[in-house]
Amino acid sequence: MAQSLPKRTLFAFDFDHTLIDDNTDTFILEITDDVNIICNLKTAFQSWRNSNLGWTECMRLLFKLMHSLSFSPELIVAHMEKIKIPEERLRILHFLSKQPDTELIIISDSNTVFIDSILKCHGVDKYFTRVYTNPAKFNTEGLLEIEAYHVNTSCPLSPPNMCKDLILREHISNSLVERSNLRVVYLGDGSGDFCAAKGLFMQDFVAARKGYSLASKLSPIQITGGIAVNIILSDFGEDLETFVHSLYT
Ligand SMILES: [Mg+2]
Ligand SMILES: [Zn+2]
Repeated sequence: MAQSLPKRTLFAFDFDHTLIDDNTDTFILEITDDVNIICNLKTAFQSWRNSNLGWTECMRLLFKLMHSLSFSPELIVAHMEKIKIPEERLRILHFLSKQPDTELIIISDSNTVFIDSILKCHGVDKYFTRVYTNPAKFNTEGLLEIEAYHVNTSCPLSPPNMCKDLILREHISNSLVERSNLRVVYLGDGSGDFCAAKGLFMQDFVAARKGYSLASKLSPIQITGGIAVNIILSDFGEDLETFVHSLYT
C-alpha cells in the first residue's frame, strides 16, 4: 500500500543564527558606540559565565547592569530592531504564510522582548502561531526582567531552562493533529537544537545550518544510532528556499 503524505506541515524555527544571522543575546552587548561601556558589559558578562551561572541568569544580571547604566527600554528595542531577517528567509516566511495546512512556530533560548521586536519590525509576527522562548518584560522602572521558560531536569542534552524536544512534543500533542498526519520541518543551528532534531521521525526534516554545531552533531554515526529523519544541510540562503518550495510541489 502506498504511503499517504502527511496532511499538515509544522515549521519549527530556532531564532539566533537560524531566522537571523546574529545572536540576540550577544548583539545586545553592542548597544552603544562607547567602547568603554561595551568593554564593561562584556567583561561583566564573561565573569558571570566564568562563575558557571546559567545563561538566563547571566542575561538577568546583564539587564540589571544595563538598567543601572540608564539604557532605556526604547533604546534596547531600537537596538534589536537593527537586526535584519535576511531577504531569502523573509521570502520563505511570506511563502509559507500562504501555504495551506502549514503552521509556523519559533522555539528559541532568546527572550520574548528581543524576538517580538525583530518579528514586528519586519511585519512577520502574525505568521507564527506560537513563540516559545524565555518570557521577558520591562517592569515599571524600565528594567528588563527575564525568566526561564521552564525547568528542565530530565533532559541532559538541553540547558536547565529549555528542552526544545519537550516543547515541540507538547506543541504537537496540544495541536490535536495525528502525528502520522504531520510532517515537522525543524530548522536550527546550535547544540540546543540537537535534542529536538533527535526526537523526529521518518516523515520529518531537519534543516541544519552548514558549518554550525547542530550539523556536526548530526554526523552519520549518530544518524545510524537512531535518527530516522531527513537531514538537509543548508546555508539558509537560496538553497533553503529551494528546499522549502520542493515540499509543496
Ligand atoms: Mg540558534
Ligand atoms: Zn532536551
